[in-house]
Amino acid sequence: MIKINENFNKLQSSYLFSDIAKRVGAFQTANPEKNIIRLGIGDVTRALPDACIQALHTAVDEMAVDASFHGYGPEQGYDFLREAIAKNDFQDRGCNVEADEVFVSDGAKCDSGNFQEIFASDVTVAVPDPVYPVYVDTNVMAGRTGEASDGRYNGLVYLDANKENGFLPALPSEPVDLIYLCFPNNPTGVTATKEQLKAWVDYAKANKALILFDAAYEAFVQDENLPRSIYEIEGAREVAVEFRSFSKTAGFTGTRCAYTVVPKECMAYTADGEAVAVHALWNRRHTTKFNSVSYPIQRAAEAVYSDAGKAQVKELVEYYLKNASYIKNKMESLGYECIGGENSPYIWIDAKGDSWEFFDALLNKAGVVCTPGAGFGKCGEGYIRISAFNSYENVVEAMDRIESALK
Ligand code: PLP
Repeated sequence: MIKINENFNKLQSSYLFSDIAKRVGAFQTANPEKNIIRLGIGDVTRALPDACIQALHTAVDEMAVDASFHGYGPEQGYDFLREAIAKNDFQDRGCNVEADEVFVSDGAKCDSGNFQEIFASDVTVAVPDPVYPVYVDTNVMAGRTGEASDGRYNGLVYLDANKENGFLPALPSEPVDLIYLCFPNNPTGVTATKEQLKAWVDYAKANKALILFDAAYEAFVQDENLPRSIYEIEGAREVAVEFRSFSKTAGFTGTRCAYTVVPKECMAYTADGEAVAVHALWNRRHTTKFNSVSYPIQRAAEAVYSDAGKAQVKELVEYYLKNASYIKNKMESLGYECIGGENSPYIWIDAKGDSWEFFDALLNKAGVVCTPGAGFGKCGEGYIRISAFNSYENVVEAMDRIESALK
């Protein structure tokens, strides 16, 4: 008899965005004429930068000719992309990352979900609350938790992010081994300073822990004093892995390309306390289970680092940040407290009540979809997240409708 992985039964009913889709679907069926504006799921809406499209066309043409055709590529990614990433995203910004520490993949979702696989099933895992649900659910699937009660899984250490601490969780009060951090944060839009990240790096060093740092939104950081990478923090190479993505930076959500940096100094330990390089473990896992991203897509990603690509990506990011600022200003003028939205495409709004009720009110009265904070964890209750990923015209229209609905 084929038996299931019982850990899947612990997962809480359904994924946040399918709950939202059901409610939106029901509303659209009841109101077929209504033009719904979606500021919920963090999916980009603008076309790929022209530099990427040009590179994609050229690479597709190469695939049409035997002499320049590419079959399987190196599992870790082509050198041309790994080198461009290491140089432009790290070395040019003063961070010591080598090309062979970069693992190209088809998404930060997969990487941040899969990375836990190389660690023991009894490591203690700390996750912020509210949190990008992938970190939690993948650890549940792997059997690192007990059942859920009151919206939290037994066995996970939750790091509360709330109004009192400015949505920046404090260090854990009990020892933990694996720590998920995400800055700029999804869902709160909060960023961390170098000093704040330094405290986490120091904690990880002192406890032989490892930080999984999700920097999927780093491109939105405009403040020169804020870190865009954890490797701007002294000592981070010994204790931190970083996830990056071209999804939000360059509009690759449907194109799929991302990467993970695993510095060679990062260590994990055998049951006997012997140090093993995390780089070697991840390389083994990645090359066994992943066959790289297609050649044309890697060429398109490389084009992000051309002069034209850099200018086009900057323009894209600024476009979404202008939306974010519009949303934030409007919600504040309506008397709602907001955070995020400055170095982030997300605005986290105090709903002054139940987050699903506020979600329903915006959907039913304004035809606007947001994301209820409760879907990101217990500390998200009472908040909603509005995403800046849409056209400026739609954002203005959505905020006009919200203004009329809430007045
Ligand atoms: N990490 C965070 C924090 C995200 O919010 C998202 C997407 O919304 C991802 C990773 C997924 O990125 P990718 O499109 O590269 O899988």
